[in-house]
Amino acid sequence: MSEERFDAIIVGGGLAGSAAAYTLAKAGLEVAVIERGTSCGSKNVTGGRLYTHSLRRLISDFEETAPLERKIVKERIVLMTEDSATTIEYGAEKLKDDSCASYAVLRAKFDPWLAEKAEEAGAFYITGIRVDKLLQKNGRVCGVIAGEDILEADVVVLADGVNSILAQQIGMKKELAPHQVAVGVKEVIGLDEKTVSERFGVNAGEGVACLVSGDPTGGSVGGGFLYTNKDSISIGTVVTLEHIGSGKGVKVPEMVERFKANAVIAPLLAGGELLEYSAHLVPEGGYSMVPELFWNGVLLVGDAAAFVISLGYTFRGMDFAIESGRLAAETILLAKEKNDFSAAGLSDYQAFLEHSFIMRDLRHYRNMPQFMDSPQMYKEIPALADEILGGMFVVDGSASPKLTTSVLSTVNRSVSLTELVNLGLKAYGAL
Ligand SMILES: Cc1cc2nc3c(=O)[nH]c(=O)nc-3n(C[C@H](O)[C@H](O)[C@H](O)COP(=O)(O)OP(=O)(O)OC[C@H]3O[C@@H](n4cnc5c(N)ncnc54)[C@H](O)[C@@H]3O)c2cc1C
Repeated sequence: MSEERFDAIIVGGGLAGSAAAYTLAKAGLEVAVIERGTSCGSKNVTGGRLYTHSLRRLISDFEETAPLERKIVKERIVLMTEDSATTIEYGAEKLKDDSCASYAVLRAKFDPWLAEKAEEAGAFYITGIRVDKLLQKNGRVCGVIAGEDILEADVVVLADGVNSILAQQIGMKKELAPHQVAVGVKEVIGLDEKTVSERFGVNAGEGVACLVSGDPTGGSVGGGFLYTNKDSISIGTVVTLEHIGSGKGVKVPEMVERFKANAVIAPLLAGGELLEYSAHLVPEGGYSMVPELFWNGVLLVGDAAAFVISLGYTFRGMDFAIESGRLAAETILLAKEKNDFSAAGLSDYQAFLEHSFIMRDLRHYRNMPQFMDSPQMYKEIPALADEILGGMFVVDGSASPKLTTSVLSTVNRSVSLTELVNLGLKAYGAL
């Protein structure tokens, strides 16, 4: 058994953990990051589009060295049925501004880059080791136990992701309920760089983010996503655990296949080679899922703290993870000045979060999970869009009713007006 002592120990070398480690090491603290994967990023999955505002606060010149795939310059939202797709595409010069830039990223490359930045600043990474338990003495967390090893510290940051078994062990977090968490399955399909640009109608270095509702999950509550990387495409589906098997009863592993086979998607992937397959849980409960965030000698960051928002047209967890890691580190620096790592000494974390976009956005979209839970969004609404647009664009010479008459009769057939109004009100309340 070996024993070592640090100012701070961070469990998990994902984005939240490395952002905290970078900030603490830069300020001169002795920091150890313990990551169970053989390398940072090897266990991590994202869709993946990273909004860079919080990364820019952490590392202002990140664009010079970070492994960014493509800058997102086009947004697509698709309502998909088995044989139709209704797409809204948005492109604007302002999407390219530094202040709101977002990039497709691949975690297998991005996480090692951020960890390297933290290492350069002085953080010490221990990979391939899982923390089994938190060390507690006199009613406070004071280190970690990993196999035979005990590592002690003034404070431990739990950046161990959505499950955070360690936070559950000390009662800061409850076991996840099926309605609070979704399972995401993702493939990375290799294609050459020029082909990706041509198929998506973008210049070199530019890319597209696409979120899809409807057929990819067979109508279950969830959706599909597609992001263009430099020379590959990330494609996948997400479905809440509670709703697996609802809709048309499509099973989780079949969802990505179904999505890839759709007539609108298949040509975009034609000739591509499967490079990567992964699956991961995603916290989807929003504000109501946020657990206790600090206690004596311990702080929760990123997915461990359920800092994720899913809005249907966009999905954000990585910018929350980076910002919460940085704010936890700022809290620890203040606690070190006071030499007080008790819950009272770490309570600045709550105040920092309250003044950041993290709590503001989580609170603002607190009704979103209930809205996203509306089954009509995944079956009736895509079918309604198909019927209305089909009525407008399918011209075969036969007599067709006036557009307003046809829309009203379609609305009544697919989903009642009352249901539509209720859905609209729910959306109004959530957004
Ligand atoms: C399918 C899918 C699509 C997504 N799409 C997007 C998107 O497009 N944009 C976006 O912003 N967000 C997206 N997210 C969410 C985003 O990926 C997460 O919010 C983000 O990864 C959280 O980072 P984190 O550092 O908190 O946790 P993680 O990235 O999960 O890192 C946790 C780390 O802790 C390690 N660990 C866990 N337990 C232990 C232990 N006991 N000992 C040692 N190490 C441990 C793990 O190996 C891992 O490296 C998506 C998520 C999924 C699953």
